[in-house]
Amino acid sequence: MTSRTGPRIDLHAHSTASDGTLSPAELVRAAADAGLDVVAITDHDTTAGWAPAVAALPPGLRLVRGAELSCRWFGADPPVPLHLLAYLFDPAHPELVAELARVRAAREARGERIVDLLRADGVDISWSEILTAAGGGTVGRPHIAQALIRAGLVASTSEAFGPDWLGERYRLPKEDIDVFHAVRLVRAAGGVPVFAHPRATRRGRVVPDELIVELAAAGLAGLEADHEDHSPEERQHVRALAADLGLLVTGSSDFHGTHKTVRLGAFTTHPEAYERIVAEASGVTGIASG
Ligand code: AMP
Ligand code: ZN
Ligand code: FE
Ligand code: FE
Repeated sequence: MTSRTGPRIDLHAHSTASDGTLSPAELVRAAADAGLDVVAITDHDTTAGWAPAVAALPPGLRLVRGAELSCRWFGADPPVPLHLLAYLFDPAHPELVAELARVRAAREARGERIVDLLRADGVDISWSEILTAAGGGTVGRPHIAQALIRAGLVASTSEAFGPDWLGERYRLPKEDIDVFHAVRLVRAAGGVPVFAHPRATRRGRVVPDELIVELAAAGLAGLEADHEDHSPEERQHVRALAADLGLLVTGSSDFHGTHKTVRLGAFTTHPEAYERIVAEASGVTGIASG
């Protein structure tokens, strides 16, 4: 349930450490300006934004350190990609560190292959311009989308994600983490795993509820229900499933700066769910507070 009177809590936001457009320092300042009391930094497959975000925390703002892990469910053919939010895990856990590094490298290999396909079709963009624009952060399709916009081939990020471009024709899979392995690894690192936008049919295929039942048994803590990519029916479905399984529910903006239109705090998480995440975590001690 969105809380209007209590603390305002947004548990999913990206910075330039991945495919957002605000630096980690700018992100936490923007979160304070948006009237948030708690914000989570959840860049794709990296913790590189944590330290600069902590260093820049404005007074009164609490920061939940997290990441959004690129995962895949191999129970369907072809396997279904999905995103797992992981909160407050130990960023030095050796196996998790290795998996994140592997996925980031796989993203670069896949990005370069996408650019090769585009170039073979006469599209004049370069891999080096995309790497430069990513600025050392985790590379993703939004960076390629920006190159297509700069080249005048599409007018917007959403057009770049359409079927003629990165959504289908030039979409390549990346080497993600098996989702069961990811859930167990996040728990082993003392973190709390929450399934991001699990029902977002507008992004593509989604997993069946039976998988979520199995993930709950494997250690999944919660489901992100309130998200702009969920219809009202999808939000309600996720909420009901969470209630059945005893999972917590979150609501979050999935803010990406100007790479998306959604604003910080557009969706929020009830304080009880936030408290449960904090209580279940043992990876990083304490919530960073400005
Ligand atoms: P990747 O992680 O490289 O597969 O790219 C996926 C990312 O692209 C997501 O995390 C979103 O930030 C972004 N994205 C996916 N679909 C869209 C869309 N339709 N419009 C804008 N951004 C999108
Ligand atoms: Zn993203
Ligand atoms: Fe996501
Ligand atoms: Fe995200």
